Amino acid sequence: AKNCGKNNAKLYSSSLTMQIMSHVKLEVGLRKALKNQELYLLYQPQIEVRTGEIVGVEALVRWRHPERGIVSPTEFIPLAEETGLIVPIGEWVLRTACNQAMAWHRIARRSLRMAVNLSAKQFKDENLSQIVISALHDTGLDPKMLELELTEGTLMDDARATMATLEQLRAIGVYLSIDDFGTGYSSMNYLKRFDVRALKIDKSFICGLPQDTENAAITRAIIAMAHGLKMVVVAEGVETDEQLLMLQEYGCDMVQGFYLGHPSPHEAITQILLQPCAA
Ligand code: C2E
Ligand code: CA
Ligand code: CA
Ligand code: CA
Repeated sequence: AKNCGKNNAKLYSSSLTMQIMSHVKLEVGLRKALKNQELYLLYQPQIEVRTGEIVGVEALVRWRHPERGIVSPTEFIPLAEETGLIVPIGEWVLRTACNQAMAWHRIARRSLRMAVNLSAKQFKDENLSQIVISALHDTGLDPKMLELELTEGTLMDDARATMATLEQLRAIGVYLSIDDFGTGYSSMNYLKRFDVRALKIDKSFICGLPQDTENAAITRAIIAMAHGLKMVVVAEGVETDEQLLMLQEYGCDMVQGFYLGHPSPHEAITQILLQPCAA
């Protein structure tokens, strides 16, 4: 049986003091991580269901800690949010990702849409649009090839400020998608008002497919609703061919998950792009 991606089970073997200590140490380390070039990106393929072709990637950050080895973003991104370090880290992620998208374009003459995660703190940062504009300008990436992934929580926070920021991003010409869709506060109303290209169905719904009839119903409903609103649907966490077949049957547009490709170093994506189109 699968545990449906719940990787938040922690063993509280250490004392509270120990936990706080290691938290503080991690924070000190994170402050130096950027400067010491300990962060790097992996890229996970996003596959168009109709053609089976790779049409985009999602950039996922990793931290190579000098003593602890690879630290998961589920551990250090919340810490980066708490401390505000997410703003410089996020800017680095954005620039590195845009740069990589341009590198693939030069090497393989193929354009992949680059999806970058944006945390709530970044979204609220008053310099966000300037950061996006200069990353695009400095790398030369077409705004249409950049997609920013936001969660429902980020969008629901403060309606007026959210609308203003979304309008700025729309004016730049980047695409927006809603990440982990179905897990946050969903007001169907905002889907109508915001100019969002894609919904990403959270992997917790995909995980139990095809057996779980409730998750199947939810998945179908999300796809129908998104299509009714002229949005594209991406299913996350696709791990088996049965899941892929079911999603295909439901008319899902794009898929992402271990079955189609793990988050990989940029060289591995380059290899895929250089293969003759015969998949
Ligand atoms: P997310 O944005 O929902 O990213 C998808 C996560 O699902 C990734 O975990 C990915 O490795 C994992 N995944 C992909 N396919 C499968 C699958 O088939 N099965 C399962 N069980 N998992 C799959 P990862 O890389 O550990 O990232 C975790 C979270 O950390 C991300 O969730 C995102 O919220 C955050 N994150 C990662 N990179 C960044 C970043 O650059 N900036 C920000 N703000 N957040 C990031
Ligand atoms: Ca994401
Ligand atoms: Ca997600
Ligand atoms: Ca997430």
